Amino acid sequence: MSENRAKKMLTRRSFITRAAAGVAGASTAAFMRLSTREAKASGPPGKWDREADVIVVGSGPTGLPAAVAAAENGARVLLLEQNSEVGGNGVINGGILSIGGGTRLQKLQGIEDSADLMFKDSSDYRIRENRRNDPRLLRAFCDYNLSTFNWLEGHGVRFQDNLFVFPGITGTSRYHLISWDKEGPGWLYEYGPSPSSGAGLILPLEAAARKKGVKILLNHRMTKLIREGCMAGRVLGVEVEVGGKELYCKARKGVILGTGSWKGNKWLRTLFDPRLTEDLVASGEPFVTADGSGILAGLEVGAALVSDRAIDWHLFHRMFGTRYYRFPTGSPLGAPGLGRTGQLSLKEVADLIIVNRSGRRYVNEALPEKPASFYDASLAQEDHVLWAVFDEAAVNRHGWNPRPPVVERDLAFSAPTIGGLAKLIGVPGDSLSETVRRYNTFVGRGEDPDFGKPKRYVRHRIETPPFYAVWMSIQVHDTTGGLATNPKSQVLDIYGNAISGLYAAGEAAGGLDKIGMARGIVLGRIAGENAAQ
Ligand SMILES: Cc1cc2nc3c(=O)[nH]c(=O)nc-3n(C[C@H](O)[C@H](O)[C@H](O)COP(=O)(O)OP(=O)(O)OC[C@H]3O[C@@H](n4cnc5c(N)ncnc54)[C@H](O)[C@@H]3O)c2cc1C
Repeated sequence: MSENRAKKMLTRRSFITRAAAGVAGASTAAFMRLSTREAKASGPPGKWDREADVIVVGSGPTGLPAAVAAAENGARVLLLEQNSEVGGNGVINGGILSIGGGTRLQKLQGIEDSADLMFKDSSDYRIRENRRNDPRLLRAFCDYNLSTFNWLEGHGVRFQDNLFVFPGITGTSRYHLISWDKEGPGWLYEYGPSPSSGAGLILPLEAAARKKGVKILLNHRMTKLIREGCMAGRVLGVEVEVGGKELYCKARKGVILGTGSWKGNKWLRTLFDPRLTEDLVASGEPFVTADGSGILAGLEVGAALVSDRAIDWHLFHRMFGTRYYRFPTGSPLGAPGLGRTGQLSLKEVADLIIVNRSGRRYVNEALPEKPASFYDASLAQEDHVLWAVFDEAAVNRHGWNPRPPVVERDLAFSAPTIGGLAKLIGVPGDSLSETVRRYNTFVGRGEDPDFGKPKRYVRHRIETPPFYAVWMSIQVHDTTGGLATNPKSQVLDIYGNAISGLYAAGEAAGGLDKIGMARGIVLGRIAGENAAQ
């Protein structure tokens, strides 16, 4: 690792540590700040502090491609990022990129694909997530996939030769793995022959942006969009907070919002699902605060909102022994949880029992993440207090390590007796003992009359001390609602007209139930090209 990179990592780590310390209150603080702010009429300021042709807000998988594309189309670009590092959720993710249309690697693997086939697949009504895709956005997305894959390779993003196959997912294979084998922030995905990570997307694009002259300003938080009149006229620029001061930045051609989702904003997210209460951590926190500030800024100047499509499995993740979603072992962002990858396989989840605040089971633990009935049951439990309970024999069977730093210090306990364990986790001892006793009788019978766990999973008694309890957190992972846009990534107002000078893509925009980076990269690139005109 170069000295420069090492320094950068230190910065990132110190940021992360600070952020981690305050994470419990982070979403709340962001929410309070946003909710106490008045939606002011947005006239131009007396004086602009900075100027560019195109201002991009956010440096994640949406903002960086938008900035590079705008610069390649002749624009002078300013990129504003509120974090002290670039990348957003893109730099900490596993680097599985669902992109297709007939890529070089699909061909190499003998997989036939085209823009039309992608469109057909993504419109298939039998797949629940497809039903409410906006066909115009979908068409633009599919048509731009292949050229965007080539464009990424042209900018130094490297992919593994093999495509990733999600267990149980059939159809045309499009999951490309972004290679990344360097030390760094990313969560390195372990399934390919070599590691993959979103860092392998972000760092080459950051380099490309700098090479094209994009001015990247970190620790610059956009607080407001500035439009000519009250909900009328062009968007002229942005108000920015930096070091407690306000700056005004003028965009001669356009502002692009690549500010990510609202999944960490309690108010916005409870609008579409009231179960997403404050205690639920949004994945990517504390590195990224997905407070929906870009979406709110758009609404303040008259943009329309597209409701969330994320009604099913990808809205949530369940994690054991961590509040956060998949970070490297020992990371101050949070341990990866129980098991090597931080998330247990279905077989493993099925082999423990999950109890609520009353020390009682409430669900068939063998329910898969999809459909969402596991989450429906879990979110209905009081205060979302959910403990996985198991014994030493299960630990040995699966090779789990339910001890810090593999699990977070205050989220895993063990005791020689069930009663002792109950005391440690604050659930009634008699009821936890009765729950375990009753479950053990099911093992003998090979059936679960309470919740219908299939016979093949009711195989092991919980009887070998020490006994363990590990916290299970439900995390808000993928929301797909956001600002209304057209196929040019222009933001639409409440009457359906394009707001001149305003663009949005990725998780700040709605209309597609497509999760992950591809939506941002492809439609962000389109935004950059159009904003530069
Ligand atoms: C742990 C994890 C694993 C994942 N794994 C994958 C995967 O393997 N494959 C995949 O395709 N997807 C994955 N995802 C999802 C993927 O990372 C997101 O879909 C993607 O990052 C969204 O890109 P975005 O640019 O729209 O938003 P973000 O990545 O959230 O970026 C938004 C950026 O805008 C900045 N910002 C926000 N508001 C402001 C403001 N007001 N002023 C200035 N800056 C602002 C933020 O700080 C952030 O840097 C994963 C997500 C997580 C959290």
